[in-house]
Amino acid sequence: MKVEKKNKAIKTIIIDVGKCVGCMACEVICSAFHATPKYSSNNPARSRIRVIRDPIADIYVPVYAGEYAVAECAGRDKYIIDGKEYDECAFCRASCPSRDVFKEPDSGLPLKCDMCESDPPQEKPLCVQWCLNEALIYEVREEEKENEEKLEELEIGLESLANKYGLHKITDIVTRMSVSKKG
Ligand code: SF4
Ligand code: SF4
Repeated sequence: MKVEKKNKAIKTIIIDVGKCVGCMACEVICSAFHATPKYSSNNPARSRIRVIRDPIADIYVPVYAGEYAVAECAGRDKYIIDGKEYDECAFCRASCPSRDVFKEPDSGLPLKCDMCESDPPQEKPLCVQWCLNEALIYEVREEEKENEEKLEELEIGLESLANKYGLHKITDIVTRMSVSKKG
């Protein structure tokens, strides 16, 4: 079976840490957009972008929420960039058990950036629009991706063949086919 490929848009927010001044505008608009009803309140603790601040060290790191992590990571890295020492978790996007960021304050449920999904779609994510210092830059690029539906079909088909004839038989046939193709 031929696996089809199609393009997928990868949305990224590029963060220019050197331009962030810690004004919190991104946190305010993100939490307001995700309030229920929309724009009824704003609370940075509910924002899907948080700014790690250390004003004495002149450190401001905007980080938008990524995946939920079930467990804390065992090894962490320290970064020193341009003479500034960043906290071990400063660049991490996970909602994880070791800190409070990226968790809904009432329920404790993990928060994840949705690039401000809305209908009709926004031209740019709101935090990017509200960052007047241009510390947040929106980028969309196209990447070729295998058609997941087709792969799923293939997997189901292989599973039923393996159930019918046994996995060894199927593996033998695939090995024989690949050897004869090479030859
Ligand atoms: S709006 Fe921009 S400058 Fe202000 S805290 Fe957020 S990223 Fe930093
Ligand atoms: S892209 Fe939207 S959802 Fe994601 S952090 Fe920015 S404002 Fe929040």
